[in-house]
Amino acid sequence: LRTSGPPAITSQYATAYRLLSTLAVLEQRESKLNMSSLAAVTAGMKLGGSVTGFVAGSNIKAVAEEAAKVEGLEKVIYVENGAYDKGLPENYAPLLVENIKKGGFTHVFAGHSAFGKNLMPRVAAMLDTQQISDITGIESEDTFVRPIYAGNAILTVQIADPIKIITVRGTAFASGEAQGGSASVEEGVDPKVECPTEWVSEDLAKSDRPDLATASKVVSGGRGLKSKEEFDRLMPPLADALGAAIGASRAAVDSGFADNSLQVGQTGKNVAPQLYLCAGISGAIQHLAGMKDSKVIACINKDGDAPIFQVADVGLVGDLFERVPELTEKLKAQ
Ligand code: FAD
Repeated sequence: LRTSGPPAITSQYATAYRLLSTLAVLEQRESKLNMSSLAAVTAGMKLGGSVTGFVAGSNIKAVAEEAAKVEGLEKVIYVENGAYDKGLPENYAPLLVENIKKGGFTHVFAGHSAFGKNLMPRVAAMLDTQQISDITGIESEDTFVRPIYAGNAILTVQIADPIKIITVRGTAFASGEAQGGSASVEEGVDPKVECPTEWVSEDLAKSDRPDLATASKVVSGGRGLKSKEEFDRLMPPLADALGAAIGASRAAVDSGFADNSLQVGQTGKNVAPQLYLCAGISGAIQHLAGMKDSKVIACINKDGDAPIFQVADVGLVGDLFERVPELTEKLKAQ
């Protein structure tokens, strides 16, 4: 697919765009840097040229200073204003657009998270350019790779727009740690756009377990668990024995066995852990879309013909109500 469109930038900025430079939009929550958003920096480094980080919110200078330690960043721009804490796109998009224009960036990368998916299309529209979603590869400065049809086809997109607004799939651009770098920290511009949307509240599922999107091990349960009681009885002990995050299929989420935030798949989270161990999941393509890049896939299913066995490295045909407790006990005994 080759796309073209009129250059969206005004002449006052035109000269600045000739150099390759990336703005990596970093996420924060309660003034803590969200490490999974560093995938945007990794993508910028793969592209080449200079990479600048961007953070906004309250008590943000400390976040910017933490981000400055990320290897590969030349500079971190921060905007101190509590109005940006929740990342509402109505005010965050104008903020980002102003800073993109000021910095003359050629590429803007953000994670393909709820934040990035909410924000970047609006930023692209404001710049009269188009957005490219969920890239998994970079071929050149104007050509990017992204999966479509739940990962069943791979699209190579070439874009002619002068500013490339892109979300990146975290599992395809492993994010580093905040160490080894020494970027400069600089205050950005704040257009202080009045936000027509008010943040009311959020209801977050709290867990001491590793974050599902970045965990190195994930245990995941499906409809085969039969009920929330069984899900809660079997999956947490298995996760604890492995030090794993818990995931679920959409059928398990829709049936109320597990929280929505645990859904893995096309309309849930993308994960690529070292180990993905699932029980009572059939392996529908929409589920595979979110986990098939896992290094080792192990499954327990009583139906030996279930499609999950076609992608599994290790498969156990059996009743999960017997096998999961047995496995948990063996792991605990190790
Ligand atoms: P099922 O397909 O019902 O499979 C249950 C499995 O459990 C079966 O294989 C069965 O053999 C096994 N089982 C039953 N009892 C036992 C037992 N005692 N011991 C061992 N095994 C047992 N799905 C997702 O997961 N994530 C998504 O993001 C997602 N997005 C979607 C988006 C769209 C647009 C659409 C149309 C669908 C989407 N789906 C998604 C739904 C997807 O198509 C499947 O319906 C869903 O993944 C099925 O979940 P499941 O494997 O848990 O259930």
